[in-house]
Amino acid sequence: MLAALRSGWAAPAGPDVDAFERDLALLAGVDHAVAVSSGTAALHLALLALGVGRGQTVLVPTLTFAATANAVVYTGAEPYFVDCEPGTGNVDVDLVAEALHRLTRQGQPIGAVLPVDLFGRCADYTRLLPLCAEYGVPVLEDAAEAVGAAHRGRPAGGFGAAGVFSFNGNKIMTTTGGGALLTSDERIAARCRYLSTQARQPAVHYEHTDVGYNYRLSNVLAALGRAQVRRLDHLVGRRRELRERYVKAFASRPGVELLGADGSVDDAQANAWLNVVVVDPDLAGWRAAELGAHLARQGIESRPVWKPMHLQPVFADARRLVAGAAERLFADGLVLPGGSALDDADIARILAAVDEFLAAWG
Ligand SMILES: *Cc1c(COP(=O)(O)O)cnc(C)c1O
Repeated sequence: MLAALRSGWAAPAGPDVDAFERDLALLAGVDHAVAVSSGTAALHLALLALGVGRGQTVLVPTLTFAATANAVVYTGAEPYFVDCEPGTGNVDVDLVAEALHRLTRQGQPIGAVLPVDLFGRCADYTRLLPLCAEYGVPVLEDAAEAVGAAHRGRPAGGFGAAGVFSFNGNKIMTTTGGGALLTSDERIAARCRYLSTQARQPAVHYEHTDVGYNYRLSNVLAALGRAQVRRLDHLVGRRRELRERYVKAFASRPGVELLGADGSVDDAQANAWLNVVVVDPDLAGWRAAELGAHLARQGIESRPVWKPMHLQPVFADARRLVAGAAERLFADGLVLPGGSALDDADIARILAAVDEFLAAWG
């Protein structure tokens, strides 16, 4: 970062942006990366580059962060919310198939399917990609939380027509704020790069034939991103270690499971960005929120799982295909403390508090 500042490249262009983009393309296993000011901006540009707009519907998982759905609304298209698999929280592929079938039968244009790699675990692309190809609908991968994760050995961010990373402060690697679009389609990359820099035609007097955006990442932040890429294995390694300890802490507790650790998917390929414990109160004898309250009394922060999009007031009128899985994770899940800043003493204190709570229940 200091080198970038001293070089005078303080603009949203420069050698560190170029180098960061090369790092990111390698990381995602794609030909092109476009570094932008946020993951949300990358989603917005990717949707525009895919031709998504007014009159179209985009399938979005109901269990996601609002940015996924907001980006769809920015384009004038409408989100259509689809429920998740209970075991991973990722979008339910059978319901995606049902939604594609229904919308196609109704003659509704579908602009894209936008799966989210929830909490750092890839959606089931083995099934999603051929399904969407069958309907001729492009896939845009929201890998905002999944930098460093993989699905069957292929890195997150590289599935579908395009993918998106976020480098927001809360994500696994950060540029304080930032994001990127990943694609092997040169046309999509060029379109996003053009729209991200105010849609300037190559003329010295600034000629414009489109409405553009100011979405490019600054060279100084790209330099920070390059430093973070070098630490990514270490950052993911620490998250996975913490996840292992949570798995152990809750092992052999009836009705208590870490989301994604039920053996139905290869847990080792997730980046363990967030760990969610899911509690069946009838089997466990306690509720997830009670564990949260116990931790809070010791000054330890935990959080409920995101409120599903179809329950949000802002999306009250949006169409949806939901079966109750996301609502159950919202009711019975707890996001456990995590983050790269936790040191060994913090982790020991958190696990001791969890053990103390569990001991009270025998
Ligand atoms: C963080 C996040 C985003 C948005 O990324 P920003 O860089 O914060 O704009 C989009 N989708 C998901 C699933 C996220 O978690």
